[in-house]
Amino acid sequence: MTEFKKNEIRENIARIREGMKAYPKTALMAVIKTRTAEEINFAIRECGITLVGENRVQELLVHYEEMDHSAKLHFIGTLQKNKVKYIIDKVDMIESLDSEGLAAEIDKRAAKIGKTMPVLIEINIGREESKSGIFPETLASFCEALKNYPNIAPQGLMTIAPICEDKNEYNRYFSEMNTLKDDIFRTYFPEVKEPILSMGMSGNFAQALENGSDIIRVGEGIFGKRNAFPIKG
Ligand SMILES: *Cc1c(COP(=O)(O)O)cnc(C)c1O
Repeated sequence: MTEFKKNEIRENIARIREGMKAYPKTALMAVIKTRTAEEINFAIRECGITLVGENRVQELLVHYEEMDHSAKLHFIGTLQKNKVKYIIDKVDMIESLDSEGLAAEIDKRAAKIGKTMPVLIEINIGREESKSGIFPETLASFCEALKNYPNIAPQGLMTIAPICEDKNEYNRYFSEMNTLKDDIFRTYFPEVKEPILSMGMSGNFAQALENGSDIIRVGEGIFGKRNAFPIKG
């Protein structure tokens, strides 16, 4: 890795942290998809990153072997049921729970290894065809159904907001996430004292912070433009 690249990563993280000063409880997740082990470990060892997120299973397996495990690892991408078994023992949280079938599979695999898997429920806040996630109007029944799976522990909600031309529009989606957390998630999971909202990416984390995000997930804003990773899936 060049000194130029190292400086870029270091300065990006410093700038984002500066903007997070008023939000001391919010975590900065470095999204590591398509990044090299050197870049990832530089962010962890030299820039104080303590949480990383990966959205593809095949890539996660490669990164898992190479990464410094002082950082926690969350799965944030679409997860096929038949791939849960590969990641169940490797991740600290699955942020992209989006169907009851997936909940059942995570529960089964977690039980098998004697683990309770923390999860976030992914919300399709813009009700977009192209995106996965639970629609807001079905969140209550989804929460009810999750009670049947003792080896998953719902901790809150995650979303990928629709692309908005006017950044102010993000406030609408992020404030709706707060309403869902307070009106629905808390009702079904009162034992979770501080439910987590994972929202905000490179293009909109400022708005997410203003709306009380607990985890902002930043990829390009830390590591620069993404190139294709050689491994798919
Ligand atoms: C890629 C990705 C991110 C980060 O996106 P950037 O625009 O690079 O910050 C955040 N969340 C999820 C689920 C992702 O797949």
